[in-house]
Amino acid sequence: MAASGAPGAHPAAPDASDAAAVRVRDLRISLDGTPILTGVDLTVRPGEWVTVIGPNGAGKSTLLRAVGGLLAAPGAVDLFGTPLSALRRRERARVVATVAQSPVVPPGMAVLDYVLLGRTPYIPPLGRESAADMAVVHEVLGRLDLAGFQGRELATLSGGERQRVFLARALAQGATLLLLDEPTSALDIGHQQEVLELVDQLRRTHGLTVLATMHDLSIAGEYADRMVLLADGRIVAEGTPTEVLTEEMLARYYRAHVTVVPGPHGPLVLPTRPR
Ligand code: ADP
Ligand code: MG
Repeated sequence: MAASGAPGAHPAAPDASDAAAVRVRDLRISLDGTPILTGVDLTVRPGEWVTVIGPNGAGKSTLLRAVGGLLAAPGAVDLFGTPLSALRRRERARVVATVAQSPVVPPGMAVLDYVLLGRTPYIPPLGRESAADMAVVHEVLGRLDLAGFQGRELATLSGGERQRVFLARALAQGATLLLLDEPTSALDIGHQQEVLELVDQLRRTHGLTVLATMHDLSIAGEYADRMVLLADGRIVAEGTPTEVLTEEMLARYYRAHVTVVPGPHGPLVLPTRPR
C-alpha cells in the first residue's frame, strides 16, 4: 500500500543497512535567542516506535522538526546513516514524512489534491502524477476511512477528519520514517485507536520506523517500544514505557498527581486529584 509507493525507500547510503534510522547527537537549538534544546542525544533503530513525551513547551515539536529537516541543525542528525544535511529535498521526502502538530492548510484545496501532494517527491519536475501515484493515494484514502471525503475542501472537515487527511498525506509519501507530532490529539478514542493501529500495522508490514510525540500518556505507552521524556531542553528519562511512566517521574516533570496501574499493553496513567 502507501509505503510500497516507494519500493526500497531507503536512502542512498550503501552501508545503511545496520545504521540507526535516526541518530541525533548533541542537538542544540535556540529560537529567537532562547535555548530550547540544550544537548539532545537520541537513537531510533529501524522498525522501532519511539514516543517523546514531556510537558507543554518542553521542545518536543522542535525536536521532531529538527529530525525532519524543517529546522536547521547542521551535523546533529543522521537518517539511516546519512547526514540529514546531505539529503536533497526530494531525497529527504522519500526518507522521512512528517505530520506536523498544526499543519498549514492550503485554502480551497480538496482532500484528494492534498493527499496527492504526498506524491510530489515521485513526480518528475513539470511532470504529472502517474496512475501508480493515484493508486497509492486512493489506497491510503480507503485505509483511513476517507474515500467519501476526497472531493471535500479541507477547511470544511472536522478536526478529526482533517487530522486523518494529514496522516494520509504522510503515508502517501511512502517514506520509511514517520514523524508524528501529536497525531491523535484531535481524534475521538475510536479514531485514535484506528489511526495508531494502522500505523503500527504499517510498521510491521512495511518496516516503518515511527518517532512520535503524544499527549495521552496511557495511549503513548501502549504503542511505543521506547519512550523519551523531554524536559528543560534535554532528555531526562529514557526506557520502556514501564520505566518512564512512573508516578515519581510524572510528578517531578509534569507537576501532575497521577496513579499508574499496570494495563494489558503497558502502564495506564490516571490523573488523580491531590488529597
Ligand atoms: P512542545 O512541542 O514540547 O510543546 P515546542 O517545541 O513547540 O514544545 O516549543 C518549545 C519552546 O520553544 C516553547 O517554549 C515555545 O514557546 C518555544 N518556541 C517555539 N517556536 C518558537 C519560535 N519560533 N520562536 C521562539 N520560541 C519558540
Ligand atoms: Mg508540540
